[in-house]
Amino acid sequence: MSSDVPAEPPFPLEETGIWGHYDLHCHCGAVRYTMKMSSPLFEEESQGKGVWKVADCACSWCERTGSLVVHPFEENVTWTRGVENLSKYSFGNKNVEHLFCKNCGSFVGSDSGDMFKKMGSKPRTVVNVRMLKDFDMKKLTIKRSEFMKQMPPKYSIDD
Ligand SMILES: [Zn+2]
Ligand SMILES: [Zn+2]
Repeated sequence: MSSDVPAEPPFPLEETGIWGHYDLHCHCGAVRYTMKMSSPLFEEESQGKGVWKVADCACSWCERTGSLVVHPFEENVTWTRGVENLSKYSFGNKNVEHLFCKNCGSFVGSDSGDMFKKMGSKPRTVVNVRMLKDFDMKKLTIKRSEFMKQMPPKYSIDD
């Protein structure tokens, strides 16, 4: 990673070898997808080796959408139904495409592959864990992340 990237990224740098597999969908069910992660999201799956901390992300997009996000490798996320129902939204340097369901408006995740490539990392997808089939905030480990807030350019809107 280049030196202008904040020190602590909102994802684990090493896999624990213990995997969690998850089903996700938007509110109306038109968009469905799966992901796998190591470490897993939930304590009960982790075999004591630690869980993936979900980012309560301080970026301007997550602040406004109330999203809780994780950043698995792109290859570990599979869109299984309804990709044609996705709309895209980009802002700032347009490195990231935020994806949401055209029908119900749920923010499902972001295609951030280009951004990670520019940072010298394997491409990752942003996934909004509020779309988990069995979403239960109490079972997640959530950590406030200022990471994206520190990434230029600073968010502003034109008058
Ligand atoms: Zn939907
Ligand atoms: Zn964010």
